[in-house]
Amino acid sequence: MTRTVKLGSLKIGAKYPVRIKGMLKSPYSNIDTLIKEAKLLEKEGAEALRMAIKEERDVKLVLLLKKEITLPLVADIHFHYRFALKAIEGGFDGIRLNPLNITSKKEVTRVVCAAKAHKIPIRIGINSGGFKRSFGSPESQAKEMVSVVGDYLKILEKENFFDIMVSLKGSDVRTTAIANEFFAKKFDYPLHLGITATGTFLNGVVKSSIGLGGLLSKSIGNVIRVSLTAPSYWEIRIAKQILAALSLRKLGPEIISCPTCSRCEVDLIKIVDKFDKALLQSHLEKPLHIAIMGCVVNGPGEARQADIGVAFGNKKAVVFKKDKIIKQTDEKNIITDLFKEVERL
Ligand code: SF4
Repeated sequence: MTRTVKLGSLKIGAKYPVRIKGMLKSPYSNIDTLIKEAKLLEKEGAEALRMAIKEERDVKLVLLLKKEITLPLVADIHFHYRFALKAIEGGFDGIRLNPLNITSKKEVTRVVCAAKAHKIPIRIGINSGGFKRSFGSPESQAKEMVSVVGDYLKILEKENFFDIMVSLKGSDVRTTAIANEFFAKKFDYPLHLGITATGTFLNGVVKSSIGLGGLLSKSIGNVIRVSLTAPSYWEIRIAKQILAALSLRKLGPEIISCPTCSRCEVDLIKIVDKFDKALLQSHLEKPLHIAIMGCVVNGPGEARQADIGVAFGNKKAVVFKKDKIIKQTDEKNIITDLFKEVERL
């Protein structure tokens, strides 16, 4: 059973839902863009946000952001322990320390004492890319990551400080999975999961889904952060989808659509894409299943099992609500007609 940690008003631990963390990516030189991004991530469903602190003046942004959003803000600190002290005093709800680049016990102890005084948690966040040497296998790297974190934990615990979260991120799924599984067997601190430096959008989605999904399905992980080389709102959307796929989170309406084959006589890919966009824009929150199926082979069956569904055939579209046919329409009008029925549910 993992401990509970409080990040602002957000409780994190075994008794609470898996939380979604986002990252602010806008340049700090443009405050309006930064605020816009933070608001968007809050609207998309982020429950905490992290921001990199590269210089002392970055710390001041926390107060500006706190006027605009209600999410807890975490300062991401590397190399300079003094930035951590400034971030704690400046109003951040949590800080992340990298055990591979803030290594002096004296400096870490000063940060821990400040965090304790301000009652804020520290995440010890190690990334595989932070090592200055290479490893023979994902296992050996994962073990070294856990060993480094274990030694760092002793510095914090020596000060009777236990408001700790840990992350062990590799740029590959295996290293990340082994490190987190190994850590979870030995320690009871909440884990923030992520795969770092995931590559292209598609690689990132696949690696995050397998890596985070695999660990979550073993009940390992309390916070997830999807990292993509893509706009930050995608990271929140993918994180929500991962949790929904594991039934750890209820999303709004979910489309169930077939992959199409030569039996399909309509442009189903386009129809599903258009309908998905309409749903996104509508901000409907009802957890409905909407089936959109290409033909009569599996179409009526799937459509009947959903809350509402459509099956195409002979260029016609038959709309089902549970067991009943409620409408017949066509390819041209299906988006509008189906949407009207969804809104009525
Ligand atoms: S529902 Fe019909 S069109 Fe879609 S994949 Fe199955 S057989 Fe093909």
